[in-house]
Amino acid sequence: MVQSSMADELEMFFFPFMARGHQIPMIDLARLFASLGVKSTIVAAPDNAHSFRDSIARDRGSGRPISIHPLDLPRGYKLLTDTFVLQDALRDLLIARRPDCIVADTCHRWSADVIDAVGVPRIVFNGYGCFSQSALRSMRIHRPPDKVDSEYCQFEIPGLPDTIEMTKSQLPHFHEESGGRKRTRKRTGQMKESGGRKRTRQMKESGGRKRTRQRRNSEDRCLGVVVNSFLDLEPAYVEYFKKEMAKKAWVVGPVSLCNRDVEDKAERGQRAAIDEQSCLSWLNAKEPNSVLYVSFGSLARLTREQLLEIAYGLEASSCSFIWAVGKINKPMKNGEGGRRDRLQSGLEKRLEESKRGLIIRGWAPQLLILEHPSVGGYMTHCGWNSTLEGVSAGVPMVTFPHSAEQFFNEKLITDVLGIGVQVGSMEWTSCNAQPGPPVGRRKVEEAVRKVMDGGEKAAEMRRRAKELGEKAERAFEEGGSSYEDAEALIQELKSRKKV
Ligand code: UDP
Repeated sequence: MVQSSMADELEMFFFPFMARGHQIPMIDLARLFASLGVKSTIVAAPDNAHSFRDSIARDRGSGRPISIHPLDLPRGYKLLTDTFVLQDALRDLLIARRPDCIVADTCHRWSADVIDAVGVPRIVFNGYGCFSQSALRSMRIHRPPDKVDSEYCQFEIPGLPDTIEMTKSQLPHFHEESGGRKRTRKRTGQMKESGGRKRTRQMKESGGRKRTRQRRNSEDRCLGVVVNSFLDLEPAYVEYFKKEMAKKAWVVGPVSLCNRDVEDKAERGQRAAIDEQSCLSWLNAKEPNSVLYVSFGSLARLTREQLLEIAYGLEASSCSFIWAVGKINKPMKNGEGGRRDRLQSGLEKRLEESKRGLIIRGWAPQLLILEHPSVGGYMTHCGWNSTLEGVSAGVPMVTFPHSAEQFFNEKLITDVLGIGVQVGSMEWTSCNAQPGPPVGRRKVEEAVRKVMDGGEKAAEMRRRAKELGEKAERAFEEGGSSYEDAEALIQELKSRKKV
């Protein structure tokens, strides 16, 4: 996007949530509006700005009106996942500065009341695409899972522009109110209907329901919703979303495209665990479209068992790969969950020695990798940011959802867009619970081959993915649908200013 003069006098605040999958796109959003000439201030939780300070400094260096305002934490408090303690600091800041609007992440659940009381126009960002939000709405209204008995019986999500089928086992717990399932998962990984831990579960459910209601209530009262997506990716769902759900919606993505410099791409989210040159020279030595990038996002903790199945599946597929191995979820008995660890050593050595595999322990420079011409496929957990980044890079995907709204994103990738192959995940798992049985190595190998083998079907998927990548670029350029929506939001704020 290019600088525009029409937004000179506007000031927008952006209030990101700290989880990487929320913070990364919100920072991009702030940078995007600054590139359009809007004075953009990132309101940051204390000690949280280190991961994006450098890219903001670079933007400032090139004359963009963007800055960071860290909020003060009251003495004696530690910031964990509930950011409620920031409410006084936010209120004081809003009263002092009175911006033209604030874009707030819905995960700051308390913030809607504080912002609305001060009377600053509030725009909601929840990090989802239009497809998953439309599907969740349909589930809430029609409750299709009520009509099937088995966890693994397919049902159709009614009222959507496409025929979308899912199973109860793939539905998020946090949307039980929206027609999701009610069940508990023991640490052993087995499912059971509500039973032994019923009391605790009921208490948790009412908390979950309250949070969902709070979020929807906050969305009902806002000026509108800003969505990280683009029209050509999910046109029927953008229309559905705008018509049926949001008062006003501005679809302005994919926001990752505002990262044009190598430095921005290499450092996005946090400093990478591999230096960019060794990563690029490894990729430069490979044939075009020959490498599969494997990553499950910023939160996923796979079990050692699942990691081994993936490793053996990759080895059998004969395909080159870069694998960002995150934290390994070990049995929780001794409080050991989440420690970094090595895969089975013989296997890991074999993979590295064959030069077919590059394993990154920790944070990967995802945008740099995905955009490299040698990368021809992406095994992803279908987080919405990662999905959009795969789409923008024009690569077909192997879909391996685990949690959140990822199973819906999988359906979009495979069933609606036809740019991916499902590995066969069946079990939705919350981030802090022990996952169910692993997806086996055969399924991994099969899905990888289908995407990477160069056959007719794979070529057709690749062609479609490439076409969508080009459409993403066009949407984001001047005159494209996302550019127009961003300008429409600026106009809206300017016209409110005049009244
Ligand atoms: N990411 C990255 N390097 C990593 C892991 C993740 O750059 O090693 C980025 C990725 O590019 C994306 C974000 O972290 O922008 C993850 O967000 P997503 O919505 O895909 O998944 P989540 O982490 O929230 O599950």
